[in-house]
Amino acid sequence: MIPTKKTPHAWTPPFCPNPNCIHHNNSGEHWPIKKIGYFKRQQPPFRIQRFTCKTCKRSFSTQTFSQDYWQKRPDLDANIIMKTVGGMANRQIARDLKVAPETVNRHIARIGRHCLLFHQWQMENAPPVKIVVVDGFESFELSQYHPIHLHVAVEKETDFFVYFTDSELRRKGRMTTTQKRRRLELEAELGRPDPKAIENDMRELLEVVLGDQKWALVHSDDHPAYRRSIKKLNIIIDHRVTSGKDHRDRNNSLWEVNLLDLLIRHCNANHRRETIAWSKRRQASAERLAILLVWRNYMKGRREKERGSPTPAMVRGMMEERLEIEDLLGKRLFRSQIELPPRWSEYYDRAVKTRGLDRERRHELKYAY
Ligand SMILES: [Zn+2]
Repeated sequence: MIPTKKTPHAWTPPFCPNPNCIHHNNSGEHWPIKKIGYFKRQQPPFRIQRFTCKTCKRSFSTQTFSQDYWQKRPDLDANIIMKTVGGMANRQIARDLKVAPETVNRHIARIGRHCLLFHQWQMENAPPVKIVVVDGFESFELSQYHPIHLHVAVEKETDFFVYFTDSELRRKGRMTTTQKRRRLELEAELGRPDPKAIENDMRELLEVVLGDQKWALVHSDDHPAYRRSIKKLNIIIDHRVTSGKDHRDRNNSLWEVNLLDLLIRHCNANHRRETIAWSKRRQASAERLAILLVWRNYMKGRREKERGSPTPAMVRGMMEERLEIEDLLGKRLFRSQIELPPRWSEYYDRAVKTRGLDRERRHELKYAY
């Protein structure tokens, strides 16, 4: 149960929040706890019950299980989510909410982490994805000398956005002589991205999306690295290739993923063409994309123009109704209880490095998750 303003006093904590305690993952054994009084705070609920775990001696409160645990401004999250997927850049959000830009950055990172866990938690008992459309979405981090591909996978029959990874790429395409020289200088100083990045990151994407199935159908464009990724998988894959030059309408086999690409460019200010709000780190792109993924799958109707259109998660039978923002933020999810795929683990820890930045903030907070 989720502690809220209306939570009755009889609420008991579901498990010990200490990840090293035997009562952290429901062992089914009796868990001895003791109530140790209240503390008062500025935000509702004003009186917070405290407890001690008699086994590991860790003390905690009802707040420990709340998504806004350790936050000064829990009121901001719902607003920030809607503005992030509504096409606003971080500084615009900060001006609109009258808070410091750094506050917005921190909240987006934290909501992003919550969304990574939320989606993974939903996927634990979800039906397998058998027909998938994949694509690399082009953007960049830091400057146009550092292009990236965000690899995305969408279930063909439901528009469900299943998973994403990313790769850094070498700048290519038309460049002036000065730009070519600058690229050489940067590469000499910072090194070059792994030429196998697309192949490896697409492979991880497919591994996570297809899980331990024996057979799957994958639609993609004719990028040569994708064939190599698919060859390395231990699954029988029927790979259907559609030329990237084909007209991109509803009849195109890649329609579902093209639609997602459009949605990402439309809703995430950092990926607009000719934007001045690009992400300095692809780490931050991933956090924003995780928020968009949750919104797209669980909160937004599948068809924009149809009133009451079900969400992709409803079409898959994963939920009976649209997820409301209060439900998304209803309870804290514990990293120690949800297993994230390798790349999402890196996103969670903010461990994805951007060439050309020396000091990058990682996520190493112990209590404020
Ligand atoms: Zn304990």
